Amino acid sequence: MAEPLPADLAFLPYGRQMVEEEDIAAVAAVLRGDWLTQGPAVAGFERALAARVGAAEAVACANGTAALRLAYAALGIGPGDAVVVPSNTFLATASAARHAGAEVAFADVDPDSGLMGVAEAEAAIARAAKAGWRVRALAPVHYAGQTAPMDELAALAQAEGLALVEDACHAIGTVDLSGGREVPVGAGRPGVDAGSLTVFSFHPVKTIAAGEGGAVTGSDPVLMARVRRLCNHGMMREPQAGEGFADPEAALDAEGKPNPWYYEMAEPGFNHRLSDIHAALVLSQLGRLDRFVERRARLMALYAERLAPLAPLVRPPALVPWCRPAWHLCAARIDFDAAGRTRSAVMAALRALGVGTQVHYIPVHRQPYWRRRYGDLALPGAMAHYDRTLSLPLFPAMADGDVDRVAAALERALS
Ligand SMILES: *Cc1c(COP(=O)(O)O)cnc(C)c1O
Repeated sequence: MAEPLPADLAFLPYGRQMVEEEDIAAVAAVLRGDWLTQGPAVAGFERALAARVGAAEAVACANGTAALRLAYAALGIGPGDAVVVPSNTFLATASAARHAGAEVAFADVDPDSGLMGVAEAEAAIARAAKAGWRVRALAPVHYAGQTAPMDELAALAQAEGLALVEDACHAIGTVDLSGGREVPVGAGRPGVDAGSLTVFSFHPVKTIAAGEGGAVTGSDPVLMARVRRLCNHGMMREPQAGEGFADPEAALDAEGKPNPWYYEMAEPGFNHRLSDIHAALVLSQLGRLDRFVERRARLMALYAERLAPLAPLVRPPALVPWCRPAWHLCAARIDFDAAGRTRSAVMAALRALGVGTQVHYIPVHRQPYWRRRYGDLALPGAMAHYDRTLSLPLFPAMADGDVDRVAAALERALS
């Protein structure tokens, strides 16, 4: 039995941003300057992010959901099309495809890692074909910070003529090793001819925070130009040859340059722009990404040690061999049945001991909207993952001793 826990310890949430003085100074500098939106901080962040993840280009946007929406739209995904989405993800991976008019072919996941593999993706493609949908893209989710097996998924995408939209909202800083090479998440897969884009979120619980923020990265200039245009109303300042002009008189001045008020639109877009205020925060945070990732790795190593005595009731997240993860979640696997405790009771007991937890995720195919649309799909891996998963506190400001606290609290909550 663990020692009783002191009652005065601060509550540990499951995740939390780490904002420091340099971040505050960066945001204050924007507020004192000339641009509140789409100024030098957005441009600077886009350059720094692209360089960090090894992509030719990054487009910053309002949040991760907007990034997904832009990626699907830039790939021309629409009605009659389908996107393969693992059921173990946040709602947005699927909803954004539906907003594009597409159907969602939900894929099962490995019950231990929570990741979609090739077999699961193939099964979803087969089901979509039966339904008469034209599958256009795979949207693997790098759950908790580990990559889906990208080398195999990229090969599948290429073989089937599909695009890749990597949902890397959990995985900035992760390096994929699945093809025997180091590929930073965000660099994408240039060998996938139908297109390869990666999306990120900078929500405060994610590894770096903008407040609200997101990005799309990629290396295909045509695709990325479309992402950029769609992010800002579909507007172009440069007259496009062959498109016809919005106003031929205004398009070019005497020197053959576009007049300052000229703009034209070839397709309707969104306003999914990021503000300079948010960009300054996330640019400043990006500078500390390596430190955050290191700290999270250290905490995960401590968890592996401290949770070991609680096996087999509690096991740390399952490690996949094909990546060097930047951990977003410590998604522990707990056999609640064997412990004779409900998850609800365990969460309440942990909360009373000052430990916040969360469940990632209720499989998306179980949501009322999707059940109404597709009926009850059998995705046993996603359900088995859901039955046992519980995300324990993981954020860079945690002290080493906090991991002991969580492990001791878990032992009490399960006994
Ligand atoms: C957070 C998250 C999103 C959405 O990002 P927002 O910035 O909250 O819109 C999408 N997919 C996954 C896997 C996420 O974790």
